[in-house]
Amino acid sequence: MMQKITTVPFIDLSRTEPGFHEALIQTFDSLVKAKQFIGGNPVAHLEDRLQKDLGVNYAISCANGTDALQLALRALDVGESDLVLVPNVTFWATFEAVVNVGARPVTIDVDPLDGGVCFEAFQKAIFERKPKAAVIAHLYGWGTAHLDDLRKLCLSRDVVLLEDGAQAFGVQYKNTSIFKDALISTTSFYPAKVLGAAGDGGAVFTNDPDLAHRVRRLSNHGRVSHYGYSDVGWNSRLDTLQAAYLNHSLDYISARIESRRMAVEFYQNRITHSSIQIMTPPSDYRENGYCNVCQIKDSRRKVALESTLKRANIGYANIYPEVMADQSGAKKFLNSHYGENYGKKFCSSVINLPVFPYITDAELHRVANVVNEFLENSDA
Ligand SMILES: *Cc1c(COP(=O)(O)O)cnc(C)c1O
Repeated sequence: MMQKITTVPFIDLSRTEPGFHEALIQTFDSLVKAKQFIGGNPVAHLEDRLQKDLGVNYAISCANGTDALQLALRALDVGESDLVLVPNVTFWATFEAVVNVGARPVTIDVDPLDGGVCFEAFQKAIFERKPKAAVIAHLYGWGTAHLDDLRKLCLSRDVVLLEDGAQAFGVQYKNTSIFKDALISTTSFYPAKVLGAAGDGGAVFTNDPDLAHRVRRLSNHGRVSHYGYSDVGWNSRLDTLQAAYLNHSLDYISARIESRRMAVEFYQNRITHSSIQIMTPPSDYRENGYCNVCQIKDSRRKVALESTLKRANIGYANIYPEVMADQSGAKKFLNSHYGENYGKKFCSSVINLPVFPYITDAELHRVANVVNEFLENSDA
């Protein structure tokens, strides 16, 4: 007998493995007693594990995913007045990082099939604007179908490509980590991300030793010796306690990702009504189950489904409701847009159903039943 479910939260981070909490408290206890708060073994150990798990030569931890983007851009020497291509559909931090280093963002329309950038628009912008850099974001638990093409194009045109993998921890591309072959990429350890900390955290990944050293230096005040500085950087170190928390989380990351994958696949198999499209990763990808993405083109039906979910005490989200170029904070920094404006329609059609590690079968059934019942009954 399945347990009767009355509420399903959009996200619940309280479900951890037996023993996780106890082991963590023990580690925290010893670190606090030793007053080891900056750097040290937990940070080195974390970076080492990230390098091995992701197949990259260098993993540099930092304070958060937004700093990771800014560190990468600064290490790439992207700054004052440089043109940088950015996706029009992404989290605001992707756009923000470009502006914060003094560069000028050019927005690229979304490819509504995978949520990445439209390849043709991206290519046109590269040919016409000759930007210094481009940023792409791997959203929703996978990456763009054109990843190899984008990487090759940028390489051949001398455009440095930064890959925002804040949501992509655990994503497999062509049977290997999506981070492995990037020039430089980043992730976020924000608690709700796939590998979440007990607060803020982030990392930069690269195979290039010079880039790695620059990122490391910039994240520690541009320091070259205790009181010697070769750059104006800032303080973007990852706390030792956060690194320790992440190390304990990494012990269970495969199980957490498996549970997420099971949840997103459940929705993909169970919700098949023609008025709703559940996005699936392009070929060559194995998703990490970061989130479910449904598209409902009929906006009245979408609003009605949202009210139905609310009444049924089922959490949902809209990742993301608006494109970058439509944010009021973006206006004075925009330097033209490439592609159509599919982003706007795409954003308003998205609804995300509950996904988190160890969501139960009963909860998944409850969500699918409510959605399916609504879709069948709202048929014209
Ligand atoms: C979460 C996120 C970020 C920012 O990460 P923080 O750690 O919150 O600073 C950047 N880009 C994308 C795509 C994200 O999802």
